[in-house]
Formats: sequence, C-alpha cells, structure tokens
Amino acid sequence: MKKQKTSAGEARLSGVALHTGARSTLHLMPAPPDTGILFRRIDLPENPVIPAIAKCVVDVQRGTSIAVSRSAIVYTVEHILSALHAWEIDNCIIEIDGPEPPVADGSSLPYYNMVRDAGGTVEQEKEARYFTPPTPVWIEEGHTRIAMFPDPDRLTVSCVTSFKGCPIDPQFFEYELDTETYPVEIAPGRTFVNYSDLSMLMSMGLARGGSLDTAAVIHDGAIICKDRLRFKNEIVRHKILDMFGDLKLTGMRLTGRIIAIRPGHPKNVELAAKLTEMAQKKA
Ligand SMILES: [Zn+2]
Repeated sequence: MKKQKTSAGEARLSGVALHTGARSTLHLMPAPPDTGILFRRIDLPENPVIPAIAKCVVDVQRGTSIAVSRSAIVYTVEHILSALHAWEIDNCIIEIDGPEPPVADGSSLPYYNMVRDAGGTVEQEKEARYFTPPTPVWIEEGHTRIAMFPDPDRLTVSCVTSFKGCPIDPQFFEYELDTETYPVEIAPGRTFVNYSDLSMLMSMGLARGGSLDTAAVIHDGAIICKDRLRFKNEIVRHKILDMFGDLKLTGMRLTGRIIAIRPGHPKNVELAAKLTEMAQKKA
C-alpha cells in the first residue's frame, strides 16, 4: 500500500489574482497525515480554515470557489489543486492573505514549481486513501458529457473540447496522470477566454487581473496570447488541468478512466461530489 504524502518543506508564491485583480501571496506548508488540503485566510479575523472538499464549493461559474461562510471564501482554487493532485499531495496547509490565489501565467506550472521549490514531497506514516468507482458514472447537462469507468491502476482522462471561433476545433487529448510528465504535458496549458465573454466578465467585476500575461483570448478565428501557443491543442490540455484540480476536491487518490466531452467546472465538481458520496457509501 502507498503512503500519504505532504510537501517536503515550505514555499511561497506572490502575484495578481485573476478575478479580483488584487495581489496575494500563497504560503504552502506541510501538514500531518489525514489533514487533507486546507486553505487558511490569514487576512481575516481568527484566520478561518477552508477545506478543499466538494462540500465547500459555493461557485463554479468562472472557476471553482470554496467557502465556509460568507467572508471565509477562496476563489479559483482549481489550478493550485491540479498541481497538488499531480504531486500526489494528500495533506498540506495553504495560507493565503486574500480571497484568491495569484493567477501567475494562467497555467498551473508556477504552482507545480512551488512544490518543487519546497523540496517536492515526503511520504508519511499513514496509508493513502485510494478510490475507483465500483460502477461506471455518467454525468450530462447541456453540451457536457462525462463518463468515468473503474480502473484500479491509473487515472486517465480523454477529453474533447469545442470552442466556436477557435482555429483548431474540436481539440482532443488523452493523458494519464503522472507526477513526472504533468509539468511537460498539462501544467503549461493556460486559461482561455472568449473575447465575447470578456466584456460580460468585466461588467460583473471579474477578470480584473486578466491580461495577455495571464490568459489567452479567442477572437474571430484566432487565438491572441503573449507568446506563441504552447501546444496546438493548448485549450483541451487546460481543460484536463482544470479537471484534475476539481477532482482533487474528493480528498482521495482517484483512479479510473474518464471520457469527457466539453467539460467545465460545474460538471467536474458534480463528479467530485458523486465520487465522494460513492466512497462514503462504500466505507
Ligand atoms: Zn482553468
């Protein structure tokens, strides 16, 4: 049986947050076995702790937000959770001095590297909790379809996206989660936003920290981004990145084979909640 893991040491990451536009600093710290992933808002009175679990999700519109009260909220947790998922970190505390982690370059590579800067991971004395769904899971709504099949040995995602106005459409990628290949194949994939959605987001007071440093924009059959595209199918790779982040909200080491067509945060989180429920019934 494999052991639980935490970060080997501490690390910090500072920058501007995507939606609030405010500067924030993350402080990653090791935690004892069975702690799970906890955010701690050190800018609020009494430093409330917000567990990264599906039950605490309060919003899935433009990112995944978790909260334990009206003020004790953390927005856009999916990218850092994706990196922690790839590192197989079961336990850690993430202190944050604001409501939203820094967006960095819109990918999860800076978070992956933050764990590397902390010395990677160390094994702990307790066994890791593995889960594969005993029966297939099916989720659908609108244009989204997600199926997950049991597989005791690995977590694989086969994903299809379709974005109107995108030069390569649809996009496909298939990936088996692995700590070594994740920073090469998945983590560099950046956030994408449709140009037509931007004005709407801004009128809602969102995307205030957004710029071509932090996201790529799809407009009129072209992708506008700071440097070149990192992959021809960068969008679908980012969708897989987001999915690993949202599935980390199960608090378990998941295995299984996922086939996802046009996934997004609402249905990713629904899958995480469903798997959590299945695991509780089994226990
Ligand atoms: Zn994302």
